[in-house]
Amino acid sequence: VKRVTLLALAGVAMAVPARSQVIDVGIRRGPDSFETLWVEYLRADRAGDAAERDKYLREITRLRAERNIQSLEDIGLALVAKGLESLKAGDRDKAEQEFRRAIALDPHLPDGYFGLALAALRKGPVGVLQALVETFSAFRSRLSTIRGRYALYTSLVPALLLAGLAFTGALALTLLLRHGGLLLHDLEEAFGQGRGRLMAKGVFLVLLLLPLMTLQGYAWLPLWWLTLMFLYVGRAERALIFAVLAGAVAVGPLLRSFDAAVLAFQNPLFRAAVLATEGGPDGRAIADLQQARQANPDDRDLAYLLGIQYKKAGRYDEAFALYDEILRREDESDVIAKNNLANIHFAREEYSKAIGRYRQCAETGGSRAFRATFLYNRSLAHYRDIQFPEGGEARSQADAIDGSVTRAYEQLWWVEKEKDGVRVKDGLVVDLGLTPAQVWAKFDGQPRGIGRKNVAREGTGGGASELLDSLGNRFTAFLGVFAIVTFVLSRWRGKKTFTLRCLKCGMPFCKRCHLGAAPSGLCTQCYHLFVVRDGVSGPARNQKLLEVQREEGRRDRVFRLLSLLSPGAGHLYAQRTVLGALFLAVWYGILALLLAGRLLPVTDASSELAKPWPLVLAGVALLALYVIANRARPDYEVAMPVRRGGPSRRGRAA
Ligand SMILES: [Zn+2]
Ligand SMILES: [Zn+2]
Repeated sequence: VKRVTLLALAGVAMAVPARSQVIDVGIRRGPDSFETLWVEYLRADRAGDAAERDKYLREITRLRAERNIQSLEDIGLALVAKGLESLKAGDRDKAEQEFRRAIALDPHLPDGYFGLALAALRKGPVGVLQALVETFSAFRSRLSTIRGRYALYTSLVPALLLAGLAFTGALALTLLLRHGGLLLHDLEEAFGQGRGRLMAKGVFLVLLLLPLMTLQGYAWLPLWWLTLMFLYVGRAERALIFAVLAGAVAVGPLLRSFDAAVLAFQNPLFRAAVLATEGGPDGRAIADLQQARQANPDDRDLAYLLGIQYKKAGRYDEAFALYDEILRREDESDVIAKNNLANIHFAREEYSKAIGRYRQCAETGGSRAFRATFLYNRSLAHYRDIQFPEGGEARSQADAIDGSVTRAYEQLWWVEKEKDGVRVKDGLVVDLGLTPAQVWAKFDGQPRGIGRKNVAREGTGGGASELLDSLGNRFTAFLGVFAIVTFVLSRWRGKKTFTLRCLKCGMPFCKRCHLGAAPSGLCTQCYHLFVVRDGVSGPARNQKLLEVQREEGRRDRVFRLLSLLSPGAGHLYAQRTVLGALFLAVWYGILALLLAGRLLPVTDASSELAKPWPLVLAGVALLALYVIANRARPDYEVAMPVRRGGPSRRGRAA
């Protein structure tokens, strides 16, 4: 538990990386820098010059595509802020336009979608559906990014572990309340009458608290109780216990990968790699990568990441020099450097040089995605150079190698171009670098420095041995404890044994002390009183009826108390196992999601933008579940096998 709590706290402390500063010292503010263009955009917008403003927006859009920037977050956020201003001023159409522009520059920015949701709500009731859709998009938008997945993962893992612990605790306590008396009965019989009864109670208590006495910690109590109760519970409950044990085994690998993710996120190089892969220009990332490149000249990945960051920052000459140096000094067959170098030729409109380089890349070869990329890029260079047949041929070859790659490129990197009075999509060439999976593999579990070098060239491998390693922990070892304890208990109780609680009066009885009435699930007295209805003396009869009444009252109280404490536990107690487990799982699941959302919001949009709809939804769901679980009281009424003497419908098999 301590470990889980600590990790949860670590997760909280490690908030999503701060948004990159607007002022980046490392970025040269040339005429083609995003800062300069944005300032010009604002100036034209203030002056009311729409044509001039759109010209700068087009240039920003073009450079974003040319530099392969997935998320131009700074300008996206600035546009959202402008949209909010317009919304406040009452200009809904303008606001909507600005939110859409923000999304076009950063499709993974939740703020833009939240803005659209706000604008939709201004339309009145007709806008509610659209607002809901946009809010959903806002939550989804980040999930395809490394950053978004990290935020989701690091908030969900601790929350789910806590939910699992709460679920297991409620289940174990309920089963102990329901069936603990049966174990006590068996112990009492084993120790005999008189002093033996006291001994039995003592042993029972010691057994229950064994994990604490052996200093294993509170967290083991629920699993231990489930183990002790296993032989006494019904089939559905046994299945549930197995499910819980399987979940416990998964805890090890889960914690390990959570640890690794948290550690990687402290790494400035990981941050730089994430920005190079999916973000925009960033001065600190460039500085960190330069330093790391000097310290690790043998790790080519760092050079690729640095080259990509140079290009994003508009430092094409430095990117060119870097790739050129790799090709001349380190490895003349490095296709990643060669492809990205050719892309700079392309940006400089030196198409024939670019085409030559792409051809060299294709001769060297590489993975399918690489080969498709060289051909795709070459086809675009041919088109620009007005060599349409060659362009078409290269493109169809690229499609033949890997159509999914070319389709993805086509959707991501393009600008609109005026051609013969029609607007057409004009594709832009694609840089090669590290995939998100490779970024993870490179920095997984590394709070600083590099975990694995040169993953971009090798490709990432699976971690089967790591999974096996992480399975070897105390949760897995508990499976052994479970098997041994269950085996010893079943041996001690003997073969064909059963211990039941009388369905009417609640008295425990077993194979040794029962007198032939067990198939009906009733104790001997109740059997004679309610089924056979033969000569039971008056006082004994009244005594038994009182006991039955007391038992009914007790069951009702326990159900109500358990349901109040934890909806679903009451149903588990009443042996409505499936329904009870469902209630419990939903209850703690929603609570965990709420907790996760509180600890580490999936989106870091401001409260001005993000309305607490999910919170309201979760609150309503929790309330509904609470009411249902408390109202839907299962009946304990026993179906009496009157005059038939056969087994009762609700009687459990031994
Ligand atoms: Zn009875
Ligand atoms: Zn007995």
